[in-house]
Amino acid sequence: MSCLFCEIVAGRIPAKVAYQDDEVLAFHDINPQGPVHVLLVPKRHITSLLDLTADDDDVVGMLVRKARDLAVELGLGERGFRLVFNCGDDAGYSVYHIHLHLVGGRSLAWPPG
Ligand code: AMP
Ligand code: ZN
Repeated sequence: MSCLFCEIVAGRIPAKVAYQDDEVLAFHDINPQGPVHVLLVPKRHITSLLDLTADDDDVVGMLVRKARDLAVELGLGERGFRLVFNCGDDAGYSVYHIHLHLVGGRSLAWPPG
């Protein structure tokens, strides 16, 4: 089954890449919810949080640490930012390849809508 974020990882669909290494790709969200909105994905397909196993602990840790690094690089270290994993319909999960949202650059409401 084709997966949008696997296609972006493979370079077959363009994206504005913010960072990549062997395991992780970060790219700007096509419909940004703030001045900064970057998605971080493992290059290896993982369908959702419900599919995580202990084998994925390293890559999930990397996603979080790289998101933090990018937030600081993009000037959000002092003012703050939000990291979000959505899962399932109630959370509006729409692309079934796990991704960490990095959102910032404006004041973010809590609780979320
Ligand atoms: P979620 O609702 O957590 O599944 O988030 C999916 C995110 O992917 C949304 O914020 C979309 O705007 C974003 N998105 C969808 N298609 C693309 C694309 N081709 N390039 C970049 N971001 C995308
Ligand atoms: Zn995928």
